[in-house]
Amino acid sequence: LEDAAGEVAWRAGQAPQDPGMPLPGPGEDTLLCTARGLLKKMQTRVMVGDRVHLSGIDWTSLRGSVDGVHPRSSVLHEPRVANVSRLLLVFSLAAPPFDPGPATRYLVAGEAAGLDLSVVLNKADLVEAAEAQALVDEVTSWGYNVILASTETGVGLAEMADAMAGHTAVLAGPSGGGKSSLINALARRATSAAGVDPTPVEQAVGEVSPRIGRGRHTTRNVTLLPLGAGAVVDTPGFNQPGLEGVPPDRLASFFPEIRARGERACAFANCRHLGEPGCRVAQPPWARYQHYVALLEERVAAEREEAARA
Ligand code: GDP
Ligand code: ZN
Repeated sequence: LEDAAGEVAWRAGQAPQDPGMPLPGPGEDTLLCTARGLLKKMQTRVMVGDRVHLSGIDWTSLRGSVDGVHPRSSVLHEPRVANVSRLLLVFSLAAPPFDPGPATRYLVAGEAAGLDLSVVLNKADLVEAAEAQALVDEVTSWGYNVILASTETGVGLAEMADAMAGHTAVLAGPSGGGKSSLINALARRATSAAGVDPTPVEQAVGEVSPRIGRGRHTTRNVTLLPLGAGAVVDTPGFNQPGLEGVPPDRLASFFPEIRARGERACAFANCRHLGEPGCRVAQPPWARYQHYVALLEERVAAEREEAARA
């Protein structure tokens, strides 16, 4: 679902199909719809990513109306998209080099958002294979699914597409990691796999929708790029994650290493795992423990500041 001047364009494959409803052919996958009065009266704003119910479809003029919005499984605010179910955190292996500290901040923000996440280590073409593998192994040891990728060689694109299949996915990560390049490469790959001329992709990423027949807003709309059975949001998600929504007491639950140690290593509820007697979460030492401690101190200080201000 795209937002276009208060009207709604629907893309095939992203809404439940009514049995018997004619399937749009290639290049005819967008309907221009208006939101019905009932929807407006209920003050339900249609969001990008919504699954909607359509009525009054006219396949000749490719128009219809939206008369219902299905319950949302998630609402992401940055960018504003409904039903995002998959997050791919993109880091480059080189230029800029991979750095576990800042990467951990993204991972915690992603976990706090409650999204299923995978880590993409991009720009594999810029480092030796052994170095790339060592970093893949390191991040895997933290407890994440890791995809080694490169937009130069195309490695990892199929794996990324698999990870996104059937999902509405968002790519996030530090600027310069290659998110936009990967989104473009994935969209290009999806259209060529579908045997469609690659130009529709450029149109989808571009500013003018030929069927709607006019330019979109000058302020950029969030758009979903169809990708197999799923879709990828065309704009990167958070690229400077604040951790305001992460209370110190919940931080530990966003580290797979701590989750894996679970009750074996610590018997206390509300333990901060800072070496309290009887807590063995820090033993034996694990790679990101120092980053956990640093983020914990940051969150504790921030909470104290907030309390003082209140
Ligand atoms: P974003 O800020 O995360 O969206 O990153 P961009 O997609 O804008 O990419 C940042 C820079 O990295 C650009 O100059 C890209 O051409 C380059 N880049 C992206 N992916 C790769 C890759 O796999 N290999 C190499 N060598 N460069 C890449
Ligand atoms: Zn503990």
